Order: sequence, then C-alpha cells, then structure tokens
Amino acid sequence: MARLTLETLRKEYDRGHVVAVDDLSLEVEDGEFITVVGPSGCGKSTTLRMVAGLESPSGGTITIGDEDVTDQNARKRDVAMVFQNYALYPHKTVEQNMAFGLRMSTDLSKDERETRVRETARMMGIEDLLEDKPDELSGGQKQRVALGRAIVREPDVFLFDEPLSNLDAKLRTTMRTEIQRLQNELGITSLYVTHDQEEAMTMGDRIVILKDGELQQVGRPKDVYENP
Ligand code: ADP
Ligand code: ADP
Repeated sequence: MARLTLETLRKEYDRGHVVAVDDLSLEVEDGEFITVVGPSGCGKSTTLRMVAGLESPSGGTITIGDEDVTDQNARKRDVAMVFQNYALYPHKTVEQNMAFGLRMSTDLSKDERETRVRETARMMGIEDLLEDKPDELSGGQKQRVALGRAIVREPDVFLFDEPLSNLDAKLRTTMRTEIQRLQNELGITSLYVTHDQEEAMTMGDRIVILKDGELQQVGRPKDVYENP
C-alpha cells in the first residue's frame, strides 16, 4: 500500500471546451479510504480513469508512494479498479479472471499464483465458483469476483467506480459491509466513487465533494455534512 497524491490534475475534452477535471489536488494517505461524491458529470469517473492510467491527464501529476506515475502505462501501475459493470472476461472462468490480473502485474510462479487466488477466493466466499464462467453468476457473485480479482493483486491503490450501483438494496448493504471489513483488515488506500451520499458518509474516512470537475469540499463525514 502507498499514499496517492494528485496535484492540479486536469482533463479537458473537445479541445478545451469541456473541462471534466479542473486542477484537482488531493492526498489520499496510506491506508485511507476516501469516498468521492457529486452529481453525474462532475468528473468522478474521469478522475479514476486517469489514476488507473486508462486516460491521459491534460495537466498535473499523479504520484503513488514516491513515484510519479503520470506518464506511466496502466499495466505498470500497481492500481486495481472495480467497475459498476464488473468488467469480467466472459470467456474465462472465475479462477482465470482472478489469475489474469495477477499474471500481468506480478512475477509470482504459477503455484504461488494459484495459492493466492484460492486464498482470496476463500476470503471472499467464492471458492465454490472458481470453475464457473461469469454468465453463470448472479450480480452479487460477479461483484464478489470483481473485488476478489482486485484484492488478489495486493495493489498499492484501489479504485472503485460505483461498484454497488447495479445491486439490489439488500445486496448493496451486504457488499458495503464486506468492503468495510476488507478495509479494516487490509488497510487499502482507496478512492471510492459513488452518487449515494449515505454510502459516502458511512464508508469514507474522508469525503470529497466534486462539482463541475472542482474539489468543493474535503473532510471527515461529520464535518462535511455539518457545514455544507
Ligand atoms: P461522472 O463520472 O462524475 O459522471 P465523468 O467523469 O464521466 O463524470 O464526466 C465529466 C465530464 O466530462 C462530463 O461533462 C462528461 O460529459 C465529459 N466527458 C467524459 N468523457 C468524455 C469524453 N470521452 N469526451 C468528451 N467529454 C467527456
Ligand atoms: P458514468 O457517468 O457512469 O461515468 P458516462 O455515461 O458518463 O459514465 O460515460 C461513459 C463513457 O462515455 C465514458 O467512457 C466516457 O468517457 C464517455 N463519455 C461521457 N461523456 C461523453 C461525451 N460528452 N462525449 C464523448 N464521450 C463521453
């Protein structure tokens, strides 16, 4: 795990006509869980995609630990992302889905990879699903697999892009508790995007409120919502 630092991070589209992220500066401490809230279009996904290396910033820097990763390829970054639509490989089994990211990002032996996948699957309660393909799974099971696939890599930074939005209310509560348990056990440095204020409140060590690509407020849940 490591600290994540964003310095005047910026993203423009359409030759500058759209400013999706407007000079955003933020430090996520080592092991800190920050939730990011704001209306649709305020730049939440764009911010995550830049940290993941899926999109190049128009300006500013991204630092993980002491390393400037701004211009680094996505595969080189020790960052794992969990998406709303799970983004599992449909033709691979659960085990292959979990092992794939591991192969791309570490130099473990095949045996070590298998052991780590099995241990993580046990922790996530999906060990009985390892031979299944994603389309045989329920939404909740898919999201467990997607979480497991991220966790198995033991990344420096975790990014969550509305991971619970596609789940029904009951499952959302279960998975929220699950993510909090992982957070307590592993102390993962995380940026967690949601449009659900209650979710942001209960899950975040600190909350970031974005508006029109700008950081409007950052603070502990209690402070942010007592002084809106
Ligand atoms: P959020 O995740 O908060 O809904 P996004 O980061 O998806 O917001 O989008 C921020 C702004 O950038 C929006 O105005 C959106 O329309 C615009 N945007 C995002 N991606 C692109 C793109 N590829 N081309 C042009 N505009 C984009
Ligand atoms: P979300 O709000 O869940 O982040 P969006 O529906 O805003 O998702 O965006 C989905 C995809 O469409 C993203 O890859 C984003 O880059 C792209 N996109 C969003 N807004 C625009 C836009 N105005 N022009 C072109 N692409 C866009």
